Amino acid sequence: MKLTAISGLGCKGPACFLFETAGRRILLDLGRGPDGDTLPDLTGVPPVDAIVFSHGHVDHTGGLHLAALLGNPPLFAPEPTIALSPDPALHRATPLEPLTQIAGIPFASGPAGHAPGARWLRLGGEGGLLYTGDMSRESVLYRWALPLPAAVMVFDASYGTADQPLSDQMADLMPLADRPLLLPVPAGGRGLEMALAFRAAGHPVALCPTHREVARVLATHPKALQPQGAARLRRLLDTTKELTGQSPAHGVMIAAGPNAERGVAGALAPRFAADGSARIVFTGHLAEGAPSGAMVAQGQARFLRWNVHPTLTETRLLMQSVTPTHAMPAFCKPGAAAALAVALDRPLIMTREVIW
Ligand SMILES: [Zn+2]
Repeated sequence: MKLTAISGLGCKGPACFLFETAGRRILLDLGRGPDGDTLPDLTGVPPVDAIVFSHGHVDHTGGLHLAALLGNPPLFAPEPTIALSPDPALHRATPLEPLTQIAGIPFASGPAGHAPGARWLRLGGEGGLLYTGDMSRESVLYRWALPLPAAVMVFDASYGTADQPLSDQMADLMPLADRPLLLPVPAGGRGLEMALAFRAAGHPVALCPTHREVARVLATHPKALQPQGAARLRRLLDTTKELTGQSPAHGVMIAAGPNAERGVAGALAPRFAADGSARIVFTGHLAEGAPSGAMVAQGQARFLRWNVHPTLTETRLLMQSVTPTHAMPAFCKPGAAAALAVALDRPLIMTREVIW
């Protein structure tokens, strides 16, 4: 068996990994960004038998238009990812939840928390590859289960050795809702979790139309959610207002996009920054060149992380469950990977290829 990290090793870059066994090639994710429009370099990659997507975020699916370079293979993705994708090409993908093989290779998957429908993927059985995609066991909305054992693991190391639990982060964020609060977030991510948390704490919440649509679709996919998740989303839709680019500053305002680069957040953030009528807090990756970084640097907005990737505690749990012989840290810089290896007290693979 062979693993090649085409992209996503040594940086917070677009996800793209190639798994080969028994004459078959399966590509795991084909992303773009998250900084700018960076795409995986597919030079020299031969046609593949399938492309399997772990979840719908653009840094995992945004390179789909490159599939023609790989022989236009069949596509596989979680059901909610297919239902929510704005890309018609993904609508022809096969839902991967019930599958036990892909292109003749033994296949298993399970819920990875993190985002609507996100799943970890295992190819080639216990002696094969476990790919976590993006993962978080702390989600208050999305279902999560420990991944299965595998010989080799590519895991989400986005946060390196950071170990602050989401509960502490929520405790820091909640008091900021004593004034109008704008939270620019990706619609297919932590926005709905935040909305549920702020509603539970009794705050008025408004959601942008994109978030409302995601909530409506997700409520029809209860298996991707925690128990009672669908009912909680329906109640959320009934008890929150619609937020638009013209809305006045009021309550907790949850809007896409995550870097105030577009959407309702892109319309509201500059206005609130200029007139000071609402706090602005970014909670995810600050994309290079986007308005978010500049607003934080100029003191117009704050950054407070809301975990959607594994903490060190979760990574330790992951290692105990998967028990990989070789583990490759994805989506972090080499320095962070080296620190993680020390914290985990085990070697981590930083070479592009693994053969076993
Ligand atoms: Zn993601």
